[in-house]
Amino acid sequence: MATWQCVKCCGACCNLSLEERPDICDYLSPKELELYLSMIGEGGWCINFDHNTRECNIYSNRPRFCCVEPGIFQEMYSIKLEEFNDFAIECCHQQIEGVYGWQSMEMLHFDNNVRIRKAISSS
Ligand code: SF4
Ligand code: SF4
Repeated sequence: MATWQCVKCCGACCNLSLEERPDICDYLSPKELELYLSMIGEGGWCINFDHNTRECNIYSNRPRFCCVEPGIFQEMYSIKLEEFNDFAIECCHQQIEGVYGWQSMEMLHFDNNVRIRKAISSS
């Protein structure tokens, strides 16, 4: 069982600030980059992010670069399927630390979820 899982009430990766992702241009097509830049709103937050619910307003139609999925990570970042889990956890750590801080409730919540899933998968 994969130990990575997106947790509710986080949304850290919906902060699209270029300071957090200086190399994003390397991974997106020109059209995707244009879309990405057009989605950056106040404080770097995506214009489609609902700050009250911390959910995406266009979730079922979100762009490819918003999807944390093995096949997409393979396409975009050349991450092998067997590396996806660890890579996704590291991405979340970086993003949560950059947006909320490494001692934030969001980081605690995410790490607890990974710990629980590790315990379940090894039992
Ligand atoms: S940073 Fe990770 S846990 Fe947080 S919303 Fe994004 S994918 Fe989910
Ligand atoms: S489109 Fe949705 S998933 Fe993608 S960054 Fe915006 S709010 Fe987040």
